[in-house]
This record gives sequence, C-alpha cells and structure tokens, in this order.
Amino acid sequence: MILKGGRVLDPATKTDGVMDVLISGDKIKETAPELCNRFPDEELIDCTGLWILPGLVDMHTHLREPGYEYKETIKTGTQAAAAGGFTTIACMANTLPVNDTAAVTRYIREKAEREGVVEVLPIGAATRGLKGEQLAEIGFMKEAGIVALSDDGFPIRDAEILRLTLEYASCFHLPVIDHCEDLTVSKGGAVHECAMGTRMGLRGIPCISESVVVARDIQVAQWLQTPIHIAHVSCRSSIELIRWAKGQGIPVTCEVTPHHLALTVDDLYQSAYDTRFKVNPPLREAQDLKALILALREGIIDCIATDHAPHDTQSKMVEFEYAANGISGLETALPIALEVGREAGISPSTILSRMTVEPARILGVERGRLAPGMVANLAVFDPLESWTVDPQRLFSKGKNTPFAGKSLIGRVKMTVFQGETVFIDRNNPWEKMPFCGEEPF
Ligand SMILES: [Zn+2]
Repeated sequence: MILKGGRVLDPATKTDGVMDVLISGDKIKETAPELCNRFPDEELIDCTGLWILPGLVDMHTHLREPGYEYKETIKTGTQAAAAGGFTTIACMANTLPVNDTAAVTRYIREKAEREGVVEVLPIGAATRGLKGEQLAEIGFMKEAGIVALSDDGFPIRDAEILRLTLEYASCFHLPVIDHCEDLTVSKGGAVHECAMGTRMGLRGIPCISESVVVARDIQVAQWLQTPIHIAHVSCRSSIELIRWAKGQGIPVTCEVTPHHLALTVDDLYQSAYDTRFKVNPPLREAQDLKALILALREGIIDCIATDHAPHDTQSKMVEFEYAANGISGLETALPIALEVGREAGISPSTILSRMTVEPARILGVERGRLAPGMVANLAVFDPLESWTVDPQRLFSKGKNTPFAGKSLIGRVKMTVFQGETVFIDRNNPWEKMPFCGEEPF
C-alpha cells in the first residue's frame, strides 16, 4: 500500500515534506516523493492535503480491564486509541485484580493480542495491591511483558518504598512513573484549592499536595542517580522544581495531559460544577496553565499523555464531591494538543514529538518514528477538518469528556497498525472500514 502525497511529519527523523509512504507487510519500506511511479501495482491511498504521522504513543492510559469492563475494555479502549491516532498505549495497573503479578500482566497481553486493535504495553504496579507497603513481583512481571512500574491512582507514599522501587526497577531497566500526591494534604479534596471552591463548600487540593512529592522524588532520583517519571504534572510549583532538577542533570522526566493544557478551574466554575471536569490532579489556575505551556515548549515537559480515564455514567452522575475523577481522552488528545500549540506558537512538530518519540524514549520502546524499516504504525490526519465532539460517538465506553459540544479543528482519518488499517473515519468514502459496521457504543 502507498499513502500518496501527504505531508509526512516525523519529529524523530526531522522529516517534514510532501511525499509518499510505501508500506510492505508490517513495515515501512520507503518514504520518498512520487513512489507511486516506481510501484504502479500498489494500492494507492490519496493523502493530498493530509498529514501522515507516526502512530501516536500514549504512556498513560487506563483500560479498566480486568475488573471494570463496564467502564472500558481492552477492545473498546484500543478502538478509541486507534480513532485518536494512537498505535501504542501503555495501560496503568489499577485494575481489579491489580496488575501486580505476572498472571495479570499475561492476561492483559493475551487479551490485547486477541481483541485489541493497537499495541498495549502493560505497566506493572510498583507495590502489591497499590498499597505502598511491599514491592510487587517486579521481575516476574518484567518477564511477562511490563514496560514500566507505577502505582498510578495512588502515590508511592513512603520514600523508603520509592527508593526500593527505583533500585529494583533499575536492575530490570524499567522506568518508574509516580503519581505525585501527598494524601495527607489532598485527602477528601474535590477541586483545586481556591476561594471559589471554598465558597461552594468543596474541600480543596492545593498545589503543594503535588509539588511536595515532586520535590521528594527529585531528591531520591538524584541520590540514586536513577530515572523517575512524574505523571500528569498540573501546577507551576512542580514545574519550577522539575526545571531546576533538569538544570542539575538529575534524571527526571514528566508528562502533562491535554486537559491540563487546555482547561482551568475557571472552566469548571463556568460549567457549574459539571462532574465531567472533575479530575485528579484537579484543573488548576491560569498561571499554572501558562507555566505548563511554557514548560512544554522548552522541553521541561517531555511528553503529552492522555491519562485516559473512562467511567460509566453512574460514577459521574452524583454530587460533585462523590463523583469519580477522570476524563475520557484518547479520541480528543491530538486536536486539543495541536490547538494549544497553535495558540501558544508551538509548532506541530514539537507537539508531535511529545506524543510520539518522546514517550517511546521514556518507555524504552522502538516506536513513534516514521522511517524505513520501522513497524508500519501510522496515523493520517486532516489538519483542517472541523468537527464537534459528540460523546455518544466516541468509541470509548467512557463518555465523560468536558469537551462535549466543543468544536475541534483537525481529525484523524485513518490509523494503520503493523501495516493494517485499524481505523478509518466513518465520514470517509473509503470502503474498507474495519469496525465501521458497528455503531460506536
Ligand atoms: Zn494519576
């Protein structure tokens, strides 16, 4: 198959130009202008006016399976990923049972192999049951195929356990991802701590609940000279610490979510406390958002990760303080990130590097680049198409998006995984639609 005449944008190889991409089997064979003249027998897909991107990599997804299949399954989660242009997603361990043993890791791997439409890389729990007390079966899970360790959903509470996790992780060459939150500070909180929340009678989560743990993590990483990755950074105080740490050469990396780049606590107020805006860490203030965007531009923030957290309706249709945290994010991530970039003067290629080669580098996997010899994982993107987010049309079972009704510019038209088309936009005339026969959930 030849993807013809699209703008090939690959930050890893610094490619940006109109050309053809020849896919042979599950590999990218060649990228060059006018390949179709040399290979006249290949199936041609006209990509004029479209971008051809490396398949996106998300290092922070919640797939909910096993245990919470009413929220999402590996099948629906990977379909949502494909619809968002992602071909590799790393899924967090807070399932039921928790992914803290090789058996659960194997279950996820095998299920993804059978039912998933893109690549699923399991992340193992750092501690048993995410309880922060005893280390999980790290070596066995590594053998079974985990790519990182994280207790995400919870912080690694004790510095000593964090130290042991980092020491063990480094023996197995596994990155450690920490959800930074001091539960003694944030406990019971539902919104970012500020005057408005207090007036509404909602307990607040101050920035310090995040940054105090970021500071600790940096110190431990410095002491052990072992890398640590900070999940979903949300506030300026954390950014200042990470900027300092990187300046000192301490091996720390971090991610930001599209919603923390696009929304603030003011959007929550304007929504009249719509629980779809409830997320952990909470949406912060304009000054935090500004600091995040600056850090993204400077490379202080290494990557954009969705923290895709699908929920059933019941978990969100309750009083604000009881509602579950999280946003269904895979299908809106790319246009939102590009819009943030457009408004802040950050180039599409910089945004794309944060969603492809950078997360792949942190996870230590050979993904997120579009070059001959690489696995043919690609997304075709229309940068101009405008569309309105309709939760009912999302492939994810999680309809919980604060972007419902928002009009976005740019849409994934086609996703290729290991040389096979796994998603085609249903508005498109191309006929070979792999799961277009099914109505979205
Ligand atoms: Zn988290």
